[in-house]
Formats: sequence, C-alpha cells, structure tokens
Amino acid sequence: MAEEWKRTSEELLAFIGESPSPWHAVESCRSRLEASGFRELNERDSWQVAPGGSYYIVRDGSSIIAFKVGDRPEAGWRIIGAHTDSPGLRLKPNAAQRRADTLCLGVEIYGGPIIASFADRDLRLAGRVWVENQGALTPRLLDTERPWARLPTPAIHLNREVNEQGLRFDPQEELYLVVRPLRDDEDPDAVFRGMLAAELDVSPEAIRSWELGVADSQPGSFFGDGDAYLASSQLDNLASCHAGLTALLEAEEVEGIAVCAFFDHEEIGSQSYKGADGRFLPDTLERVAAALDLQHEEARMRARGWLLSADMSHAYHPNFMRYYDEAHAVRLNGGPVIKINVKQRYATDGYGEAYFSALCRAEGVPYQVYSHRNNLPCGSTIGPISASRLGIRTVDIGNPMWSMHSLRESAGAKDHEMMIRVLRRFYSDRNKA
Ligand SMILES: [Zn+2]
Repeated sequence: MAEEWKRTSEELLAFIGESPSPWHAVESCRSRLEASGFRELNERDSWQVAPGGSYYIVRDGSSIIAFKVGDRPEAGWRIIGAHTDSPGLRLKPNAAQRRADTLCLGVEIYGGPIIASFADRDLRLAGRVWVENQGALTPRLLDTERPWARLPTPAIHLNREVNEQGLRFDPQEELYLVVRPLRDDEDPDAVFRGMLAAELDVSPEAIRSWELGVADSQPGSFFGDGDAYLASSQLDNLASCHAGLTALLEAEEVEGIAVCAFFDHEEIGSQSYKGADGRFLPDTLERVAAALDLQHEEARMRARGWLLSADMSHAYHPNFMRYYDEAHAVRLNGGPVIKINVKQRYATDGYGEAYFSALCRAEGVPYQVYSHRNNLPCGSTIGPISASRLGIRTVDIGNPMWSMHSLRESAGAKDHEMMIRVLRRFYSDRNKA
C-alpha cells in the first residue's frame, strides 16, 4: 500500500487535473462536499442552519464558502482562506483573428504569470460560457481537456539573443494563440464560435459571452528520486484549497464553526463581487450567525476566532540562493511555512506565529518560518485583506514551492499531507483559541 503522503499528493494532482479554471475548481470542491453530505445554501433564499450541520454557498460559480457547525458554535469562527484562481492568459471578447492564414486567439494577461512558461506547451481551453436557451441565460463549463491551442516560439535562428535576453513576448503583438489553419472563405469569428458550440453541443447563435483561459493539458506528476517532488500547474493555490477542503471533510469534532473560504480574483487584487476584498465572507458569517440565532454573538465569535490564510510560499532554490534571506530560507518537504512580514504584507503577528507553531508541535509536524529579503519587494495574500475586513486574528501560512506562477510549478511531495494534518487539528483544537 502506498504511503499516506503519496496517496494524499496523488489526490491533490487529481483535484488539480479536474480544475483547469476557477469555475472548475469550485465544481471540484462542490462534488466532494456533496459526496460528504454538505447542503447547498442559495444567497437569494433564507437559510436554515443547525448545530451539527454542514453547508456551502457558491458565489458566481468561482468562489465558495463551506462550513461545518460544531455543538458550540458560539466558540468562534475557525476559517481557512485560499484562492481558486491562477495567473494566465484569458481570451478577449473579440478573440478570433486571422493572422498569417491561421485562426489565432487574442488574449489578455490575467495576474502575473511567467509568460514564457506558456510557450510551446500543449494548452487546453477551459472556463465558462454563457448560453441563451429560450430566453434563459445559463452558465456552461467548458474544458477541451486535449491540447487545443499553442503559443509557438520563433526559432533561435531568428531570435539569436533568446538565451541572453530571455524569452520575451510583446503582450499585444506576440501572444496570439494558434488554433488551426484558415481557408480564404472562412470567417475567424464564425469558425471559433462553431468550435465552442460543438464543444458545448449548442448552436453558435446561443453563445452570449465567455470567460475562457488556457490551462496545462499535461497531468501533474511526481519527479525526483523516491518521488520527492511534485510537478503540476496551479499548485498556487489549488494545493491550499485541497488541503483546507480535505481538512474540513475529515474534521470530526469541530470547535465553533469550521469554515473554508476560497475566493476567485486573488491574483488581480481581490476587489470584486466575489473576491476576498468584497462582501462574500462578511455577508456569509453574519447570515450564518443570524440563522443560528447568534446575531448578538457574531462579533464575539470573530474575537474568539482565527483565520488561516493558506497560500504557497517561496522555497529555497539551489540555483537562485541570492533571492533569499538565508536565515529564513524554507525547504521543500520541510513542513508548513509561517509567513511573517512586519509591514503586514503577511498578516501573521507574534500570537499567530505562536498559535500555529503550537498546532504543528501538537500534531508532530515540523514547521518553518519565512521572512522576505529586505531588498526585494514582498508579495501579499488574502490574509491582510481578510484580517482588516473582518477584524479577525489571522495567520499567513502555506507550503513551500518553486516556479510560482509558471504553467508547471513544483513542490515537495510530502508537505501536502503534513499541512492537512495541521489544518484538521486547527478545526477541532479546543485549547488554543
Ligand atoms: Zn497564491
């Protein structure tokens, strides 16, 4: 029988394979929640919530909040936050263009991808299409699964400086995705809509709009001696979504109310109807407390609660050690990372660091502490945003990885199982809140 860490990482790779867009990631969560008996609540309806119950809410198909109510919900919120989106290339509204007698798709850059990692890869098309059927607008998920488009590089003979200058693309002129040859009598837009319609089994005239991007068609895999490492797209941040979701599904005795909150739009700043800087989480906490007749307790439930902002962190890189503060360099397969930044780019404070490290020690899991170099700008997460929006104590944590925002990222194969164990303990721990 495979070891526990290996089985857990295999489940993660399968989850990512099913989740080539944020809408698919939420569907992957939904199917696992439904299989475990969670009931969906609709934001347009009034909610019936009871101690011992398990529920979830979806906003616009790509953000999801799931929760389990313990016997003493007033003990406070235990929230794990993460994001469902990944940086990449998204199709423009009038995407289809004829260029050099080829059907090409114009794209916009979503977030901060390593664009060169999208070149010469077998790209699938995935996302959501709105179709009209007898006056009703319906969202349809689309995933071609097979390689469907490509961003080919020019030969080195034409681009002699590529290894000295790096593989660069002008974002307007040089990112068109190649789909198929075009005959003289073919209209690119009609051909493209026909292809989408065939994928969805609808008429081309029914297509009203799309939110489509490209994703990797190559399944994730283990690599290295002893399968030490994972290679996959979207480890940032579907690994954290999968870890949080698994912990929620497996948590048996929940203290307070255990919540997973996974948001779209983190990679572009979180300010939206369904982003972490929006009303989705505060609205939901208020409504859940009210449905439990605890509206007068809700502020106290936040004061008694914790939010773990789970997002990936930067593992020490043997070829680029200059990018790290050596005293705070974290290793793959070295366990969960607590991220600390005095300017609150990460929300962790002294109590949060002590709290999370106590959870790790209680679970027998090693942990690591990350602090960024002073002469490099530090990224951020949904942690500080959620902490200030909710007024809830927050810790920024995450597993270490390389190649963040590449189409094919890499991470340690053993860290995922360790993170799940700590998150499971977070939901049921009675002593440390
Ligand atoms: Zn992230």
